[in-house]
Amino acid sequence: MSQSLRRCVRCGARSVKPRTGRGRTTQYRNMPAMAIPDDVAIPMCGLCKSEFIDEQTSEAIAPRLHQAYLDSLRTRARIAIDLLSKHMTQRRLEQLLGLSQGYLSRIRAGTGNPSPELVSHLATLCQDPAKRLAELARFWALPDREWATLHQAGPDRRHRPTAPASSALPGHAPATINRLLVVSPPTTSPSSASSDQQRCASLRSASPLHRLDRVPGGDDLERDIQAQAERNEGNGTCR
Ligand SMILES: [Zn+2]
Repeated sequence: MSQSLRRCVRCGARSVKPRTGRGRTTQYRNMPAMAIPDDVAIPMCGLCKSEFIDEQTSEAIAPRLHQAYLDSLRTRARIAIDLLSKHMTQRRLEQLLGLSQGYLSRIRAGTGNPSPELVSHLATLCQDPAKRLAELARFWALPDREWATLHQAGPDRRHRPTAPASSALPGHAPATINRLLVVSPPTTSPSSASSDQQRCASLRSASPLHRLDRVPGGDDLERDIQAQAERNEGNGTCR
């Protein structure tokens, strides 16, 4: 019996042998503390509890750790999809993430292995689902070179007073969003037929752009956009 026990290089006790156990973790790929399945045997000191994973052990447990990693990704993806589904349909989420139709429901059902990249994206969205999903929808709606200004906070911007909550658009709304929303203000003087026509044409051309920002479930920005558009249309004389 004692022959199968090796000496511990940490505490000196002859008490190292393969042991199973609960609550053990290991660094694995992008996970700093992945749970090791309870029944995986790893050489451990019975006295000081130090673990010793040599090359042989590492090779032996590699398939189990890989399986544990895939299980973890599937579990995390399932939780994330359930959470995000309260804010957006799975189909719309698939579109936003560039996934094929039905991919998320397959992942949800556990019939596929989500990539750590996808799980990372889902995890980030879950931190504030309504806000993050609206941001992602806006990101894809913006021109290639203009989306990055969305959260740029230079020294001058940081100290700028924040717009009041009642303001139609948040202070950090990108210039492009503002431009999409610009519609001619109603004229106070009696307007000619031609300027009315111009305004109506501008309203009509702007309305499809509003829909780019629309997110199922909506958020404050979307409601503000909607209210702004309705106010402008109410003031106009479009037919
Ligand atoms: Zn020890």
